[in-house]
Amino acid sequence: VSLLIALGQNIVLVFALTYIDGLLRLSKRLERWSKNCWVDGLLYGIFGVLSMASAIEVFPGFIMDARGVVILVAGATKGPLVATLAGCMMVIYRFILGGAGAFPSGIGMAAAVCIGSGFYFLDRANRLKHRSAAFLILGTLGVINSLVWAFLLGGPGGLTYVQKAALPLLVFYPVATLLLEKLLSYHQHNIQTSGALLESEARYRAVLDAMDEGVLYASADGSILGVNATAERMLGHTLEQIRGNMPLALNWSGYREDGSILPGAEHPSVIALRTGQPQSNVVLGFDHPTEGRRWLSVSSRPLFNDGSSKPYAVVATLSDITERKLAMEQVERERDLLRTLIDSIPDYIFIKDAGARFVNSNAAHNRISGVARAEELIGKTAFDVFPLHLAAQFHADDMTVIQSGQALVNVERTSVDKDGHERRMLTTKVPLRNRDGKVIGLVGISRDITERELVERQKLELATEHQRVMLLHRFIGDLSHDFRTPLSVIGTSTYLAGKATTPEMRHKHLERIEEQTLHIRHLLDDLLEMSALEREDVIYHFEEVNLVDVVQDEMQHVATLVAERRQTLTFCTSLREACVIADERHIKRAIANLLENAVHYTPDGGRIAITIEARGKEHAIQIADNGIGITQEDQRHVFEHFYRADQARSVDTGGSGLGLPITRKIVEGHKGRVHMESEHGKGSTFTIVLPACDTTAQLAS
Ligand code: ADP
Repeated sequence: VSLLIALGQNIVLVFALTYIDGLLRLSKRLERWSKNCWVDGLLYGIFGVLSMASAIEVFPGFIMDARGVVILVAGATKGPLVATLAGCMMVIYRFILGGAGAFPSGIGMAAAVCIGSGFYFLDRANRLKHRSAAFLILGTLGVINSLVWAFLLGGPGGLTYVQKAALPLLVFYPVATLLLEKLLSYHQHNIQTSGALLESEARYRAVLDAMDEGVLYASADGSILGVNATAERMLGHTLEQIRGNMPLALNWSGYREDGSILPGAEHPSVIALRTGQPQSNVVLGFDHPTEGRRWLSVSSRPLFNDGSSKPYAVVATLSDITERKLAMEQVERERDLLRTLIDSIPDYIFIKDAGARFVNSNAAHNRISGVARAEELIGKTAFDVFPLHLAAQFHADDMTVIQSGQALVNVERTSVDKDGHERRMLTTKVPLRNRDGKVIGLVGISRDITERELVERQKLELATEHQRVMLLHRFIGDLSHDFRTPLSVIGTSTYLAGKATTPEMRHKHLERIEEQTLHIRHLLDDLLEMSALEREDVIYHFEEVNLVDVVQDEMQHVATLVAERRQTLTFCTSLREACVIADERHIKRAIANLLENAVHYTPDGGRIAITIEARGKEHAIQIADNGIGITQEDQRHVFEHFYRADQARSVDTGGSGLGLPITRKIVEGHKGRVHMESEHGKGSTFTIVLPACDTTAQLAS
């Protein structure tokens, strides 16, 4: 019985030893001790000593206990140093106990250290293929070792000891050695497994904590069981503060995107748990304890046990989208502002893509296009909106801008409003480019200038009318002046003729009356001529006219006057004939006007020279005098109606101030030109240039 008790005690000790060994290795705090041989040696020594204390004395001086097993296993599993340390402690204790077997026991323990260490080295060299068998052998060797030393050194008592202890020892030692090794390796395995578990947990924890997303783990009832560091930061609470918090559904409320309250029952994790369906990217807001309203995008995924349809937990990933949401709200506000702005502009604004299809348009453009909203225009081209002939023009403009990449600026176009009324538009189209500079469409702005054009036209008409009235006013003024002067002369002469005492005197006054009457007739002729010429439908009777003959005829007409004034009139031309297609009566009138002016405005004894020359396909008649000439200022006006450089002088000459305008009108009616060169006090040269016959054939027709 006492043997069994001792056996039991030793087995308990073995368990205690392996348990403490395991503890030493599992505990983080004791980690640095667990690697220390001295601690191991001490531990095994203590247990060896304790096993010795619970030994039974087989017979006086000879005891049986588990010390050998402890030494053997310490040697085989921990190495020689640990075994030696433990062995020393036990040897010392054995010697303190004293008795007959102390010496052989000491030697036996030393040998056991060596045997155990031998197995340690075999194990390290991987020679122990079958560990269980090896440890049974180790135990057996341990028994043999202690029996040998007891027999050899135990004296007469030794033999007795061998005889009595051999059998129990041969059973106890191998079994205990194997048991101890098994327990130790079991603990070793446990330690390795839990160490690996701890390591992997730490790794996953580090990964979770390093994530940018917050991760939240909640149990089936919605209680939060775990959060990573990012989630703690995002939520503003530590895990301790929220761990095991009452179910989300009851304890939590947030905000929907529109700002309304989102009850806990609608939290995506709660929905995922309730329905078993994953919830993705649900945007919700909450009040952060220090940072105010924050916004999260939450995705919740339910977790299922194999074969179960009811989730046992849920994992939610949280992304803080506050900044993004605020930025988007800002962009939206700016977009709304821009939209309001372009919608309140009366100009028509539209955007088209590279295929000239509408992409966007403002309210004014929607109205003229007959649609309520810009969306109705999207994808349509000008052909879908405007009549064909207008659409073709608009489309051509669009394609020019898109293909050339050049803007069309302020081009005037006709369009129609939704009622079909024509509108005038001032349109600018600017190409739209992407970042690479490629044209991807255009922006167009059209301004309705119908009213403006109308006003401008009315203004112009008014100004023209005003000018006409002014001209008429001046004309009547000039005319009345031109008539009043000769009429007053006639009046005076008539009175004087009545009072004349001699026939000579009366004759002189009557001559004066005749002269003024002639002047009035002349004036009236010029007026009628001018008015006839200014009519749009003036009719010329074209025929071949020889300018040489015309000039010679007109020279005849002024010959008397030239002679009276003792002027020299010459005509010089190398041409026998200067043919032009002309209305003879009118062309004669034009030349006569110039010739009469030359005679009138050249003092007595002066010179007048007429030449005709061919200039390419034209004929030029030049009438030059060395008369009074025309000032620079007057040169600008002499072709105006009724303009006379020197009023008093012209009255003398009987001029109407219509001669030059009539000449110019006639010459221009013959597709010709009139030039004037003059120097005040030195003379003037007037030139008429007319197309020569062969080039004016078309005029004849
Ligand atoms: P008028 O009947 O008064 O001659 P015109 O229209 O023929 O009217 O000429 C306009 C004015 O031009 C004249 O009044 C005169 O002052 C000036 N003028 C025309 N021809 C000559 C000229 N050869 N030499 C100087 N002045 C001239």
